[in-house]
Amino acid sequence: MTEKGLLIVLSGPSGVGKGTVRQAIFSQGERDFMYSISATTRKQRVGEVDSEDYFFKSREEFESMIKNNQLLEYTEYVGNYYGTPIDYVKKTLNEGNDIFLEIEVQGAMQVKERMPEGIFIFLTPPDLTELESRILNRGTDESPIIQQRMEKAVEELNLIRYYDYAVENDTVQNAVKNILAIIQSEHLKVSRFLENQLTDEKE
Ligand code: 5GP
Repeated sequence: MTEKGLLIVLSGPSGVGKGTVRQAIFSQGERDFMYSISATTRKQRVGEVDSEDYFFKSREEFESMIKNNQLLEYTEYVGNYYGTPIDYVKKTLNEGNDIFLEIEVQGAMQVKERMPEGIFIFLTPPDLTELESRILNRGTDESPIIQQRMEKAVEELNLIRYYDYAVENDTVQNAVKNILAIIQSEHLKVSRFLENQLTDEKE
């Protein structure tokens, strides 16, 4: 049976630890996942490798990718563009491999519009209530930047309702275990089984 791969979108508020969890999933090697390398206009950080961590682009290059419909989604985040090249995602799924997107919430919502069959996982901070109450009770002496960030975090947290799964990042190990369990059950869904059978019959 030729199974189509799963599109796994790992998202969540900034600073929640998406990168750490995703890297832990990839390094434990239980399943063979592909990773969608994003394009960005942000400056390369020390230790980052072009075409491994990101495809580092100029604004002009990125804007031409937008114009030529080369991106599945994109967003502007803290003054820089970030986006997912579409061709690699489609090719990987058609080859029957699972692909991981590790992106912020605005982008994840665009993917949901275009590819609703994806699995949308929201990584939550363990101290959600604490974060919310800090924002609600924030003092007037906090700097506007902190306030803006907190407000942005709450805005992001509100989008959780559009996701399929909420995984708490209490420990990386727990988050990894739960995400792998989600993927395992998604592979076993009856709807998926029937869809693949139909595809086989057509071939
Ligand atoms: P950083 O600059 O720290 O590498 O990433 C900043 C934020 O952008 C993180 O939340 C990261 O997950 C998100 N991000 C990375 N690549 C993409 C992408 O292709 N699309 C979207 N929408 N967000 C991304």
